[in-house]
Amino acid sequence: MKLKQALKAGAGWLYLHTPVPHRLHAEGVILMLHRVIADDRAAALPHRNELCLGSAAFERLLRWLRRNFDCVPLMELLDPHAAPGDRLRVALTFDDGWRDNATQAFPLLQRYQMPASIFLSTDFIGSQRSFWWESIGETLWGTFGPTARDALCARLLEAGAEVPAAIFGKHDHYRRSLVLAQYLQHLKQLPAGLLQALADQCPDSTEPQALDWQQVRQLEDSGLVRFGPHGASHAILTGLDHAQLERELHDSSRLLRQRCRRPLPVYCYPNGDHDEQVRRQLAQHHYYRHALSTRPGLFRGRGDNLALPRIGVSQHTAQRPELLAWRMLSSGSQ
Ligand SMILES: [Zn+2]
Repeated sequence: MKLKQALKAGAGWLYLHTPVPHRLHAEGVILMLHRVIADDRAAALPHRNELCLGSAAFERLLRWLRRNFDCVPLMELLDPHAAPGDRLRVALTFDDGWRDNATQAFPLLQRYQMPASIFLSTDFIGSQRSFWWESIGETLWGTFGPTARDALCARLLEAGAEVPAAIFGKHDHYRRSLVLAQYLQHLKQLPAGLLQALADQCPDSTEPQALDWQQVRQLEDSGLVRFGPHGASHAILTGLDHAQLERELHDSSRLLRQRCRRPLPVYCYPNGDHDEQVRRQLAQHHYYRHALSTRPGLFRGRGDNLALPRIGVSQHTAQRPELLAWRMLSSGSQ
């Protein structure tokens, strides 16, 4: 471990072993995850690192959380009347509704009896639709072969977003992946409809990317997992007009209430993006008392309940959970 990381890990350890009342008055920590995949080395590549945890790193994270925190369901963490414990509380959240939440993450959640909340982009659930960043990213990575990759490159060039040649080198996987991660970030500037159309032309992987409703029901029946909405189409809510925004909020909310026994009264903004109009319109759906952003920070039990902060977990931090404690400490002092 490099010196800087060792110092951060040491500070994180001290933070965890500080009595609760002195921990910057935090009520708890909401962690944000997306996917859990079988292969830890694949998850560690830069274009996957932020969104994918390998199952070994995920298990390590769960063991560390169990040792150091009170691991509670999200609604218990948000409950202002919950009795404070000796340890900081933590709640796990997963965004999007990836199929691997059922196949990879859930068996480990069960093993460690770890409660979790999953936020679904409802248009994708039970469908073959693909998340554009996954389909475009993996096609460019070469997962589906050179023919599919070349065809996508030609379409991206037509769209004015030439793919950097450095993605195609034969050597230095890490460097290639880093360039791909930066390129995918750059693509977010293109219109959402265009990105989805490009993704729809990419080859399908062998199974759907998203959960189906039967899996949702099975996970809910376990008593460990609850579900909430994360938009319908995963459109960025701040870019929508009044009618489009209403459709996203209404459709996602309606499906959750139809399909789940106990849908969460918590909304999760796609990409974390929200503004005053989004919060005002969401507040009119009286069912939602809380909403989750991606702004890093600790839950303090005060402030705007429709813009709650979270701490993101990457493969990098899941492998070295003391770095997560550092992130909590540094976001707590802001
Ligand atoms: Zn998302």
